[in-house]
Amino acid sequence: MSLNPLICLKENEENNSKFVETIQSQTASIASEDPLQNLCLASQEVLQKAQQSGRSKCLKCGGSRMFYCYTCYVPVENVPIEQIPLVKLPLKIDIIKHPNETDGKSTAIHAKLLAPEFVNIYTYPCIPEYEEKDHEVALVFPGPQSISIKDISFHLQKRIQNNVRGKNDYPDKPSFKRKKTEEQEDCDLHDSKCKGTTLKKIIFIDSTWNQTNKIFTDERLQGLLQVELKTRKTCFWRHQKGKPDTFLSTIEAIYYFLVDYHTDILKEKYKGQYDNLLFFYSFMYQLIKNAKCSGDKETRKLIQ
Ligand SMILES: [Zn+2]
Repeated sequence: MSLNPLICLKENEENNSKFVETIQSQTASIASEDPLQNLCLASQEVLQKAQQSGRSKCLKCGGSRMFYCYTCYVPVENVPIEQIPLVKLPLKIDIIKHPNETDGKSTAIHAKLLAPEFVNIYTYPCIPEYEEKDHEVALVFPGPQSISIKDISFHLQKRIQNNVRGKNDYPDKPSFKRKKTEEQEDCDLHDSKCKGTTLKKIIFIDSTWNQTNKIFTDERLQGLLQVELKTRKTCFWRHQKGKPDTFLSTIEAIYYFLVDYHTDILKEKYKGQYDNLLFFYSFMYQLIKNAKCSGDKETRKLIQ
């Protein structure tokens, strides 16, 4: 069994001696198993300083927050925005969050903070209409219909062909030839990035796994191509009890999706381009890990 140190800690709140022993014996394996260790990250000094000085003011709403404001999606006063990395993404991301989800606990906000131009967060049931775009949009969801990332292009192409065929049944609609020409032009404009992929937007559901089903079964999302992520283990400190450690936090899911998209779809070597999406996540993970090991309840309260 592979041990996730955080889950162990979470499930063993009482500090008994057996527990301490287990932790000590695990320390060696933690270092080698920590997937957040070798990331290409911007300097986290700004977060270290902010953490030492404690909560700060949100310049938009005036709320007192740690690192960033989870309602305004901006860093707080003691975390200057120019010291936060900006991540460029190869496609747009929509995140649909459940209204009951506590904003302060959601890691979806990290994506909005670090790639603001590419990420939009919607609160269910107020979500965009995707019906007309179902040939260029996909939903990350592990269901029986789900396909793997490397098969996205194939399935979207199939949808395009089906749509065109459908339209040709009606003489008033644009012909196949015209549609093809328009797509070709579009393709030329984006040249090297247009390597047989038509995926323009990927949707993530941000909620506890019990609430996810309600959003997923919404008819506005039912027609979309569903994509499943490769199996990866979570580092999430708010890991949901009773769920396997392959249930990722939203920012982990976004990050791993992009890494696979980069190699499997764009066919480019991954050189850490999206690692800064874990800028806050890796720092907070480390903080929680240290706080739990030292029994520092104050730090835990600040972040959890
Ligand atoms: Zn605010």
